[in-house]
Amino acid sequence: MKFSIGTKLFLSFLCVLSFALGVGIYFLVVTEKALQEAVGQTSLFLAEDLIERIDKDIFDKIEQIQLYVQDTPLQEELQSSNQAFEELSDSLDYIQKQDEVWRAFPEQEVSPFMEELITGKISDSLRNEFLVFWEQKYGFPAYGEVFVTNRYGVNIAQTGKTSDYYQADEAWWQKAMENGFFVDNIEYDESAQIWTMPIGVRIDGEQGEFLGVIKAIPLAQELFAQAELTGKRYETTRIWLLTAEGNLIYSTGSFQMFRDLSQEDFFQRSRKGQGFFVSTEGESEKLFAYVQSGGFRDFSGLGWTLLIGHDTSEVFAPIRNLQRTFILVGIVLFLLAATFAVVFSRMISLPLKKLTMAAELISKGNLDVSIEVMSQDEIGKLAEAFGNMTKELRELYASLEQKVQARTEELKSQVIELDKTAKLLVRRDLELSEIREREQSKLKELDVNSRRLVRRDFELMQANEKLREMDHIKSEFVSIAAHQLRTPLTGIKWTLYSLLEEDVGKLNAEQKKFATDSYRSTNRLIELVNDLLDVARLEEGRAGFVMRQQALDPIIAKTVKRFKKAAKEKGISFSLELPSSGLPLISCDDEKIGIVLENVLDNAVKYTPPGGKIKMSVKEEKNHLTIKVQDTGIGVPSEQVSRVFSKFFRGENARLYQTSGTGLGLYLAQNIVEYHGGTISFASKENEGSTITLSLPIPEQKKTSD
Ligand code: ADP
Repeated sequence: MKFSIGTKLFLSFLCVLSFALGVGIYFLVVTEKALQEAVGQTSLFLAEDLIERIDKDIFDKIEQIQLYVQDTPLQEELQSSNQAFEELSDSLDYIQKQDEVWRAFPEQEVSPFMEELITGKISDSLRNEFLVFWEQKYGFPAYGEVFVTNRYGVNIAQTGKTSDYYQADEAWWQKAMENGFFVDNIEYDESAQIWTMPIGVRIDGEQGEFLGVIKAIPLAQELFAQAELTGKRYETTRIWLLTAEGNLIYSTGSFQMFRDLSQEDFFQRSRKGQGFFVSTEGESEKLFAYVQSGGFRDFSGLGWTLLIGHDTSEVFAPIRNLQRTFILVGIVLFLLAATFAVVFSRMISLPLKKLTMAAELISKGNLDVSIEVMSQDEIGKLAEAFGNMTKELRELYASLEQKVQARTEELKSQVIELDKTAKLLVRRDLELSEIREREQSKLKELDVNSRRLVRRDFELMQANEKLREMDHIKSEFVSIAAHQLRTPLTGIKWTLYSLLEEDVGKLNAEQKKFATDSYRSTNRLIELVNDLLDVARLEEGRAGFVMRQQALDPIIAKTVKRFKKAAKEKGISFSLELPSSGLPLISCDDEKIGIVLENVLDNAVKYTPPGGKIKMSVKEEKNHLTIKVQDTGIGVPSEQVSRVFSKFFRGENARLYQTSGTGLGLYLAQNIVEYHGGTISFASKENEGSTITLSLPIPEQKKTSD
């Protein structure tokens, strides 16, 4: 639920007020209960007092009678009467006959026998004691009649005429004889037309022997005469005395004797014990206090109920007045408080409403709002603070607007710049995409080309494979051919040698010349065949390398010695440079390295004209042994330098300068060096000279040879 602050304040006021009224009402109810309790208790005490007094009055009467029957003349009279009856042969028959006669006598008349009994000495005493004395003392009669029977139950004295002569067959007589006394309930004596409450008392002799029974009939009204005087507390106070059956036997004010009230609510609620309650009686509501008669000493009472009632309108009159006043004051207070609540809540809520409206206007962007709140309280201060805040907001807003404008300008120029950059970027992007497209088409082309190349490569590989096969076949052929050629060639050589030595006879000059040429040619052929065989062995892997840890000093020395001599013979100077610390141990086949050195030095001597120089150096560099042979020979044309290690290659100038040569020496040298894990390189300039460099690996920590 949505309530405005005014409504909430108003409701709060109402809540507080309702609470206060509620507390007031609660206290009124509690006070009413307390008053009811107090009046009830007081009435109860009064009722107890009254009923006890009534019971005591009844007991007093019994005692009075008991005292009287001890009177000697009465006792003597009874004893003589009893004796007379004792002497009768059939007393019961006599009694019955007398009784019949008694009862048959007209009601309004008195027989001489009755007269005799009424006027007897004892009857006079009874009259004086019970009827005359009381009337004289209190001014009104206390007893209706009194009579005495002997132990046989027949009347011996009486103050008036009784309805029967024989009383022993009556219940009261029996009970009085058995219990000492008997009090009967209130009854209406039609002959005397009065309400009575008969009391029977047993008469005993001095030795305690049973003499007879006396019956006194007191008048009921006398018993309750005092109750009316003491029972009044309120104007409306009434007292009721009811029998156990609910018959009214006394009431203050006028009442109908023996009226049946057993069905009344107040009787039903007061049948047991004692207490008080509120109920209706007739037209009015009453607060009743009730108590049961409990008897007095030997007298156990007759089960009567005594009720005292007061109209609640009178009992609760002060409280009711208070209630009325309270309600009246409550209504006035409520109206006043409601009015104040409305005014106060307006006083609080109106400025708040103004503030809310102002806040709403501000939230919509209207900062030119002014709030007029006159009050000096917290709301007034809030309004003032709100006004200040609005003012500050206005200023802030203005400075913000300025800043925003400046920033907008800045941003605008930045946007223009950005726009330019963006356009440039777009152009660049376009260019890039064009380039990308071009690149892509190129890539496609390249892809096609690379596929083509791959295909070409594959074709080349196949061709190579074929070539290798052909090469292998050729090598095999060369090997077989060379092998087959070497033996006859060696034979021819030695034959020619014998001819030249003139072992078979003298040769003329011409013959000698032919033999010498043939000998040289055969030698060259043998050389070629040897080279071919070496190459074939290498290529077929039959070279039979024998690797050992060794220094190269011996093989270098041996080979250099041979070619130093050849150089000298040709008029070429030869120098050798070796490391002073000796040569390191390397893993090699010295014979094969010898072949390499032979080929290299042979070329240097062969392709260097007389007067030239050959310089050989051996150096240990890092993990390599470097052997360099430099000459000042004919060199190799620059376009052919790269081919010097090819099989059967011979330089053009070399072929013109030197006819002998197989083009296999460097090919062999390269294969051997590479087998050792080393490298071989060749550098040259035509007509200036050549440098060939070998590099062989030195195993770690094995450098010296001794
Ligand atoms: P050849 O038996 O022809 O010497 P090689 O295989 O030893 O065959 O050498 C191949 C070719 O390299 C030679 O024919 C020559 O053209 C060139 N060549 C090698 N060494 C030298 C050198 N020291 N001076 C000039 N040319 C050389």
